[in-house]
Order: sequence, then structure tokens, then C-alpha cells
Amino acid sequence: IKNIGVFTSGGDAPGMNAAIRAVVRTALYHDMQVTGIRRGYEGMINGDYEFLHRKSVSNIIQRGGTILKSARSEQFKTAEGRKLAHYQLKKHNVDALVAIGGDGTFTGAKALYEEFGIPVIGLPGTIDNDLTGTDYTIGYDTAINTVINAVDKIRDTAESHDRLFIVEVMGRDSGMIALRTGVASGAESVLIPESKDDLVGLFDRLENGRKDKSSRIVIVAEGEQEGGAFHIGNIVKEKFPHIDTRVSILGHIQRGGKPTCMDRVLASRLGYAAVEALKAGRSGEMIGVIHDEIAYTPLEKAIEKSSEINLNLLKIVEILSL
Ligand code: ATP
Repeated sequence: IKNIGVFTSGGDAPGMNAAIRAVVRTALYHDMQVTGIRRGYEGMINGDYEFLHRKSVSNIIQRGGTILKSARSEQFKTAEGRKLAHYQLKKHNVDALVAIGGDGTFTGAKALYEEFGIPVIGLPGTIDNDLTGTDYTIGYDTAINTVINAVDKIRDTAESHDRLFIVEVMGRDSGMIALRTGVASGAESVLIPESKDDLVGLFDRLENGRKDKSSRIVIVAEGEQEGGAFHIGNIVKEKFPHIDTRVSILGHIQRGGKPTCMDRVLASRLGYAAVEALKAGRSGEMIGVIHDEIAYTPLEKAIEKSSEINLNLLKIVEILSL
């Protein structure tokens, strides 16, 4: 392998830059070239390529977002679009790929590998932590720290006004962010897509639980089946008119910011491992870390939604806030 193409795709996540840096520096160490592909599969199709040098990745390990930018591409989902992508890859002499992103990105990478035989390694870059084959994804630790910092601030005002706050966090299909941050912010309740009837549980607590609480925080995952935070807020207001209830949606702040030490180290390890894997002839796999060891998982398995949510944490939230 002489020229590795690297790109970021799907939702951006803090730590993607640290991963790009690690890929570039490791490849250069092995006398390989690195081509940065901008804007994910869209740029791959449109020929938006540039060589990355040692200097191109200076001073980015601490920066959020992705210097290569990210995008979603409908065209790449078609066989015709992937043909164009392959044509551009060949034109730029890219002979292997490191794809940094989530399940959609890996589905696309797998198609490229299967249809054209290009060696591909995937790195888990998503704040959702919802991939199989890694304990943590790049960006998750930063995102949950951003959430608890924000919720701590909400707690201050909730406490001053004796209010209940319903805080919506990211996670369209996954309660990973909600569950951890719920424990860490001393939430009253956590509502996540993986668990049913949490709303009934919340009502029960508000009805029969301690009445002397001056503030309460409820964390809701975006994908909670019983509706978004505003919908839940309206139901709570209706059923419990004596509780002063407010809703706060944290939104995109969860995707930005400086990556934490955990995310920088994870991204650096995975970027390094990706190049070593390609060099060793591996392909069609996602690289993650399980119990602090580098782990390889076939892309088709990695994209199976990780169902390993620790439901015990829900119980802990409940007991600790009694
Ligand atoms: P996140 O989970 O953080 O949003 P993601 O990688 O899952 O990240 P998606 O938008 O789902 O983000 O996917 C990124 C891109 O991958 C899509 O815009 C598309 O170009 C490509 N992709 C997704 N699904 C497929 C598919 N079935 N076939 C080919 N390409 C796909």
C-alpha cells in the first residue's frame, strides 16, 4: 500500500482530528502517502482530494470538528455514485481507505470494499457510542462531559426556582448518552428508547416519591419512543400542574468542543492501529478497543446496533435519587 485515503463522514465527533493526525503520522512513518478526502463520500465522488503532510495535521489534536469536513451523500448510496467514487479514487492513486464515522459510513465502506476490492478499515467516530466491537466510540466521552457540564448549570437554576427540568440529549436510536449522563448528574429519571414504560415510572415517582425535593432533572434521549422532551414536558405539566416544569434541548453543543483526554488517546490509538492493520493486509473491519485492547470486528457486525446497554444503570439512577 502506497497511498492511504482518509475521510470523515456522517455526524462529526470530537476526536476525529486526533484520529486523522494519527493516520497521517503513522503512514508517513512507514513511508506511505496519505490523501485526505474532504466532505466524506460527497467529496470522494466530486474529486475533493488533497495530500496530507506532517504539517497538515499540526496543532489539530485538541480541536473539535473535523478538518476534512463531513457530509452526507445520497448519491453514494447508488451503484452509479459508488462507481464515480471508485473512478476518482483510482485517478488519485488511492489504494486503501480509512473511514471514520458511524454505521452509515461503514455500510458505504463495506460496499466499496465488496464491489471494488479496495482495502478498507473503519474507525468508530460518533458521539452515540452505538457500534458493536468497541467499548467506546471517538467523541462519546467528550459529548457526555459536555452534557454534564450543561446539566450542572441547569441544576443551578432549577434549584433556585424549585423547578423540574426535562433535558433532551442526543441519541436518535440510542440511550447511551442519556443513561451515563443521567447517573452523573444525579437525575431523577432517564427516558431512553431501549427501555419501555419509563414515563410511567417517572409519573409514579412524581406522585408517590419524596415531596421535599427542590429541583429535579429528567434526562430524555432524543429517540425516546414516548416523544421528544417538549411532548413529555406537556404531559408532565398537565398531570402535575403544581410542579414548575421546564424543557431544555441541548442540541448541537453536544457535537462540538475540545476532545477530552480519553477521546484523544482513543483516537490516536485507533488511527495508529488502522494503518498498521492495512499494512498487515487486513480489510473490511472496524477497529475498536475492548477492555483496553485493540479489537477487530467485521464491518457488517460493527453496524449491528449495540444492544449492550447497561440497564442496571437505570436502576441505579432510580435508587440514588430516592
Ligand atoms: P452518525 O451515526 O454519527 O450519524 P453515520 O456514519 O451513521 O454517522 P450516516 O449519515 O448514516 O452517518 O451515513 C454517512 C454516509 O454514509 C451517508 O450520507 C451515505 O453517503 C453513506 N451511506 C449510508 N448508508 C449507506 C448505504 N446503505 N449504502 C451506501 N452508502 C451509505
